[in-house]
Amino acid sequence: MTRETTPTARPRKRLLAAVLLLAALASGCGKPGTPPPKGPQPSALPTYQVRDASSITGSPTLDAARSRGHLVVGAKEDQPYLGQKNPATGEYSGFDIEIAKMVGAYLGFPPERIQFKTIASANRETALQNGQVDYYVGTYTINDNRKKLVGFAGPYFIAGQSLLVRKNDNSIHGPQDLDGKKVCSAAGSTPYQRIQSQFPKAKLIGYDTYSACVDNLITNQVDAVTTDNAILLGYAAKVPDELKVVGPPFSVEPYGIGVPKNDTVLRNAINDALEYNEQNGDWRRAFEATLGLSGEPAPTPPPIDRY
Ligand code: GLU
Repeated sequence: MTRETTPTARPRKRLLAAVLLLAALASGCGKPGTPPPKGPQPSALPTYQVRDASSITGSPTLDAARSRGHLVVGAKEDQPYLGQKNPATGEYSGFDIEIAKMVGAYLGFPPERIQFKTIASANRETALQNGQVDYYVGTYTINDNRKKLVGFAGPYFIAGQSLLVRKNDNSIHGPQDLDGKKVCSAAGSTPYQRIQSQFPKAKLIGYDTYSACVDNLITNQVDAVTTDNAILLGYAAKVPDELKVVGPPFSVEPYGIGVPKNDTVLRNAINDALEYNEQNGDWRRAFEATLGLSGEPAPTPPPIDRY
């Protein structure tokens, strides 16, 4: 009797390993059987003092939120340390979520009166234009093209584009090595657009989310995932034996808070909120309890651009 060491045995084994890894990623844990990496510790998170914001008048967005009784804030739900939704409780956590909460408190809304709504990179401008969200906090780069469609408060953080590859890959060190490689990013994002225009020999693949790209990287269907270093570090930290971030960042991505284009009152108030929290130390505390867990020391917050 021949043993079943047929050519299918190996791929099947590899498939099983990939399935286990994906399950571990989905459940928010590291490798099966290992303790989960440190997540945001609720006790380390600041409590933002809710202000009386009745002196802020003339913002149609804020007026609508006040009569509705709660804010609706757009966010990401699959970006570790930045914006992540707990599938069991529906709760959102991460640095972007803390930024959204500190701004909410400054505008008079306690966290229980903020409803988060997941919006993918490609749909942010439409969501703000259609009034689906009051403001958006989700690794959202400020740039002139987007400013034609929406307004931006901030920046509140500066990231840079980088690359995530499999740990055993020694062929990719930077974007110059992407010729002929399958590279995945989120449609509608600045990293996607940069690869398309500056590295046209890469085989670019667009998905709605970066987590879909990471799944494809783990199962060998793409060779690299590209987006901001802050996002990639979170994925790498979840499966450090399988994935690594390579090369220095090759762009500047200033993160802003998206608001409806003509609501200048709201944009100014959010800028005030950011400055207030940067000065009182809550911005730093929020960073250290969230994104800081990926190993990055808290930077000095960038100056607010009141354009
Ligand atoms: N910061 C980049 C952007 O706004 C990439 C991250 C994202 O897609 O949210 O397009």
